[in-house]
This record gives sequence, structure tokens and C-alpha cells, in this order.
Amino acid sequence: EELKQAKDEADRANSAKSRFLANMSHEIRTPINTIMGMDEMILRENRELPVKVYSTSVVKYAASIKTASESLLGMINDILDLSKIESGKMNLVCRDYQVAELFRAITTMIRVRANEKGLEFRTELDPELPSALYGDDGKIKQVILNLLTNAVKYTRQGGFTLKVRVSSIDGDSCRIDYSVRDSGIGIKPEDMDRLFVPFERLDEHKNTGIQGTGLGLDISRQFVELMGSELKCDSVYGEGSTFYFTLEQRIVDAEPMGEFSESGGEEIRTDYVPLFVAPEARAMVVDDNEMNLMVIQGLLERTKIRLSLVNSGKKCLEEMQNGDYDIVLLDHMMPEMDGIETLHEIRKTHPDIPAVILTANIATNGEDYYKNEGFQGYLAKPVDGEKLEEVLKSFLPAEKVREWTPGEDEQPEAEEHGEASEQELFLEKLSTAEGIDISAGIRFCGSRDAFIKAVGNFRDALEERAGEIETAYVEEDWELYTIKVHALKSSARIIGAAELSEKAGALEEAGINGDIDAIRKDTGEMMSLYRSYLEKIPGADAEGDEDKEEASREMIDDAWEAMRDIASAMDYDSAEMVIEDLKGYRLPQKEAERFDELKHMVKSLDWDGISRLIEERMSE
Ligand code: ADP
Repeated sequence: EELKQAKDEADRANSAKSRFLANMSHEIRTPINTIMGMDEMILRENRELPVKVYSTSVVKYAASIKTASESLLGMINDILDLSKIESGKMNLVCRDYQVAELFRAITTMIRVRANEKGLEFRTELDPELPSALYGDDGKIKQVILNLLTNAVKYTRQGGFTLKVRVSSIDGDSCRIDYSVRDSGIGIKPEDMDRLFVPFERLDEHKNTGIQGTGLGLDISRQFVELMGSELKCDSVYGEGSTFYFTLEQRIVDAEPMGEFSESGGEEIRTDYVPLFVAPEARAMVVDDNEMNLMVIQGLLERTKIRLSLVNSGKKCLEEMQNGDYDIVLLDHMMPEMDGIETLHEIRKTHPDIPAVILTANIATNGEDYYKNEGFQGYLAKPVDGEKLEEVLKSFLPAEKVREWTPGEDEQPEAEEHGEASEQELFLEKLSTAEGIDISAGIRFCGSRDAFIKAVGNFRDALEERAGEIETAYVEEDWELYTIKVHALKSSARIIGAAELSEKAGALEEAGINGDIDAIRKDTGEMMSLYRSYLEKIPGADAEGDEDKEEASREMIDDAWEAMRDIASAMDYDSAEMVIEDLKGYRLPQKEAERFDELKHMVKSLDWDGISRLIEERMSE
């Protein structure tokens, strides 16, 4: 009985310790983040200024603060992880991930450190690795980074290798072997059993000067165990060590990753210059989808063409009477009056104006078809920036077109500052949203500015557009329905929402083929994905309860459900996120009160209180 009592007491004390560590490390992380943020400001400011006498030493101090605070943050994060593991509150966070991206993130981080120390860092990544998998990529990354960081730290000369191999594929799952081998100092056989023990560091006299806490390997081992496997080590003292483990992951995309390229990825073009400039030329662009108009505007910005953007054939005809246009770009699929009909009308008053059709329906004889209808040019959607410029250049009057010269679109520096950081903040928020591929979006839009505008527009127009699709659906106006989902297909693509775009595209196909059954079956799912972007895209904060939308019962339930997981993981950042989300809505009285209590508890990191509150709420 006494033993049992003593054990319970010890357990309680241990769990109190873990909680204290978790809370403490969170508390410490916050000011470190501020220090790092402010320090980054100093570094940036000094990079932009002309070098002043004092600034070189300021930069040196700031650089030291940066290194020190990074390593401090690393330690705090380790302690936080360890205390979560010990209190059984570390969960797997699984999701779909791109394999090449995971390794790219890892190799770029390690490459720098290897170079600094003059070590050779080789990668042997199996080209047969499936390109997308499902699993906890965050933890896998942390484990591999840990092993590679140790390889850098405990190797004096030579180098180390990251090797990843698919050992077997069985239906939709595969086994993957990961290993990190170094030619470092190695580990004595008698030390091997202390290797994975927290706070233990080996060979301390030999390793003096090498920073560490002795936590990394313990955390890595526990992460690998959490994922159902084992982290092992073979080592020969004085020659080197190999750390290895095997994981089973579900295959999301079986297409092999192919040869791995570290720099890879689609980079944003920075050396772009426009093919021509034509500040005197006027062009009219007609498309019922505002997003498409904005993309064209973005793509043509640096050509300085004066653009008139209109969203219907009717408006185009009106506008034609007012201005002296050099060219007109017409979308094909538009409600009421399509691009071809519009051109026929235009021809009555402007028989010679060059006209270019924009179309996503790329038929084999498309060009001839549109030529017969009176178009001079033809551009496939999504519009490619270079082709767009080529086409325009060939049809604009030669006297209005000239070559671009360096320096002509330099902007006054000062204006850009505030905007840039706001944009960065927006992109940062957006980068956590699932279902938006920012770099693809920027590529489609031609520039970051245009992309940000397009995303904002997508969100602002969402309610209205969604309503239109639903009305067409309810009224069984399949022609209008098809036009509307067609428009959604391209707007979604423009902002890098590939899955939504594909779903809308499939429904467009169904509309074209008159496959009403498919439309009835899939519209619901597509629409809920579409509507989810209202929350995914950060919008302007609505202040004041009156203007806020009423939160749905389902939404509140979901939030509590999420809080349950978050509370058990003591994940402060996610808790803040849930609260931030709900803030945008009006809640029923009782829920609002409870929500206030929750906010308070989160602020004071009262995880037990939060769990109690959740149970109370759930049992109702
Ligand atoms: P840290 O590196 O912070 O001390 P770790 O838990 O990552 O903590 O590692 C524990 C100990 O194991 C290290 O202090 C070091 O003595 C030893 N060790 C880890 N990796 C290697 C390696 N690749 N080669 C030799 N010794 C290693």
C-alpha cells in the first residue's frame, strides 16, 4: 500500500514537472521570438542602408544575437518536445506531403552547415520514392535534421551521407529505409547504451566546445517509436557512425519522385523583362471572370499598355464607342453574349480592329475555327505571359511599340516599404492554408502583387459566385451552371488551388456532356471545398459583433473537437489559432461565455482547466 502511494506521488510529481516544463518553455519561447524578430529588423535595416562607420559592428553584434538566439530556441523546443513526450501528450500529425519538398527543406538547411565546416554532404535518394506520401512529415524532418546535425557536429573531417531507399511497396503503402552515415569520431561500445538517454552526452572531454543538451537523440528515438519503428545505431569508435530507421508510409501519389534535385522546385522568375513597352497603346480585355482580368492586367503591367477591363460583351460594345482602341481581347465563354457574338457586333462598327480570342477549349482545329469567325489571334487559357506579349506585339501598331529599356520601371523606394511587409504578412498567413500553392499562384499571376490581389478578389467574390452556382443548380439552368463552374475552374487555378480547379473542371465537363447525374452527385462536395476558402484565405478583420456572421452549430462543435486534441498536446499556438478563427463570428450567449473562459484559460496555459471545460461542453 505504501509502495503504491509512493508511486502515485512520484507519478504526480513527474507529471507536474512535465507540465511545468511545457508551460515554462512556452513562456520562454515568446520573448525569444521577439528578440529574434527585432534582431532581424536590425540586420535588414543595415543591409539596406549605405554602410555607415558604426553599422558594421552593429551588424556583427546582431549576427551574434541571431546565432545565440537560434540555438537557445532550439534547446527550448527540445525541452518542450521532451516534456510533451514524457507526459504522453505528443501525437502524430499526419498529412499528405511532397517527398521531394521534404528532402529539399532538409538538405538546404544542412548544406550550409556542412559547407561552413568544410565537410562533404552527399545525398542518395531513391528515384523510385513515391512523389507524395501520407504521414507526419514534421516529425520525420525533425528526426533526419537531428541526425544530420549530429553528423556535422561530431565529424571533424570527411563527410556524411543521407541515404533513403524504398525497401518494399505493398499496395498503397511502402516501407522506406532512412540512414545517416558519417566518418566522424564514432562511439565507444561501452557508451552505446547511454546514447539515447536524455541529457547524456558522451566522450565529454573530447567533445568540449561542441554545443548540445543531449536531448536530440532521445527525442528522435521517441519520435521514431511513436511512428511505430525503432531508431538504431552502428558505430566504430574513431571511424564513424550510422544511424538508421525504417518507416511505413501510405502512398498518396505513386508516381516516382525521380532524380532528386536540391535546388529544384519552380523558382519565381526574377530576371523577367517585358518584350516591349507601349504606353500609348490601348487595349480592351473582356472576360466575365474578374480574376482572369486581373491576371492579364498583372501580366501586362510592365508593358505599360493602357488597359480597359470589362466583364461582359454588352459593356465591351458600350465602351468601344467611347475609346480609340488598338486591340481587343475577348474571352470565349461568357454568359448572355459570348466572345464570338460580341466580335460580330464589334465588326459592324470596327471592321479592322485586331481581335484575339482567349479560350480554354483547345480544340485541334481551334485556330481555324476562330479565324473564320473573324479573330486574328488565339490565346489558350490559362494565358502564358510570354505568348500574350508576343501576340500583342504582333498586332499593335508598330509606331506605338518600342523596346523596353533598363531602369524605366524603377519605383521610388519609399513607397514600397509598408506595403511589402503587409504583403509578407499576408503571404505568411496564407502559407499555412491548405489547398493553395503560393508559388504556382505567383507563376500564374505573373507577379506577387497580382497574386495577392487575385487571392483577395477570389475571397471577396466567393459568396456571390458560390450563390450563382447554387442558383443555377437549383433552377437547373445547366448552361449557366457550366459557365459558372468553368469560371471557377480558372479562378481556382490562378490562385494555385489545384484540387478545387480540377473538381470544378470535372463538373464543367459533366455540364458540357449533359451528364446531370454527375453534376448532382459531385456539386455538393465541390461547393463545400469552395466555401472552405472563405476561412482559408485571411481576410480583413471584421470588428464589432453586429457585422459578424453567426457561427453555425457545426462550426462551434468542430472548434471544441479541435480544442480537445490541442489541449492534450498542450499546443498553445494551435489553441490561439482556433480562438482567432472563432473571433470572427457571433456566438450564442452561452457559447460566448464559455468561449471567454476558454480564452482566459489558454492565455494562462491552464491545460487542466481547458480539458475540464471541454468535457463539460462535450457532455451536454
Ligand atoms: P547533443 O548532440 O545535443 O549532445 P544528442 O542527444 O543528439 O545530444 O546526442 C547525444 C550524444 O551522443 C552526443 O553528445 C554525442 O556524444 C553522441 N553522438 C550523437 N551523434 C553522434 C555521431 N554522429 N557521432 C558520434 N557521437 C554522436
